[in-house]
Amino acid sequence: MNMSRLEKIWTTILVLATACVQGLAAQYPTELDSIKFPVPHIWVNVDIRLQAWLGKIADTATVEHFACLGGTAFVHDGDTLLAIRGAFLPRTVNDAGHGLVLGGCPEGTLLGWHNHLYGAVKTFFEQQGWKVTGDSAQACYLSPVDFQSGLWKTGTVFGEVVQVNARTFCWWFTSQLHAIPPDWWAFIHPLAGQSRSDWGDAPREQPKEPK
Ligand SMILES: [Zn+2]
Repeated sequence: MNMSRLEKIWTTILVLATACVQGLAAQYPTELDSIKFPVPHIWVNVDIRLQAWLGKIADTATVEHFACLGGTAFVHDGDTLLAIRGAFLPRTVNDAGHGLVLGGCPEGTLLGWHNHLYGAVKTFFEQQGWKVTGDSAQACYLSPVDFQSGLWKTGTVFGEVVQVNARTFCWWFTSQLHAIPPDWWAFIHPLAGQSRSDWGDAPREQPKEPK
């Protein structure tokens, strides 16, 4: 199965993303370098109108929202393609902007998704003594709350997505999260190549009005 085009959709800015991650690494109290993270053969293709809708939620949110992303998982010969076509927003209980308790996702959910509020992240991190420079990608991480309450722990989803705004999101696959010892469930920044801050730049990523 030729995945190169689909792979590109999420990984075109590998170089830029890696630079962001390196810039962030020093700020987070985690020592991930010693972990050999699995690189799962999973590709994700999200309907661009859904992606735009999720981006709009992240852009306008005043609290964190959780979404259960669904669609079809095609598995063949060790490759998995997740064709994400819909989102279900369960009831959530929000906790001061940097945590939430998940109300529950329907069976068949493929990915967990939630937004981070850049303003809340900046305030919180700067209270802890970490400078946040204005780069929205700095709000793309998994928090201790995300580790405690994430869908990935149930083992029924392929991964977790965090969205900061319409252009910026990052993701972790479940097998990668299982590779992190529970002692290190702090603020886990995106793995190399697993964040984007340029969504929408490519014409194919811009939703068209239906004719
Ligand atoms: Zn979070």
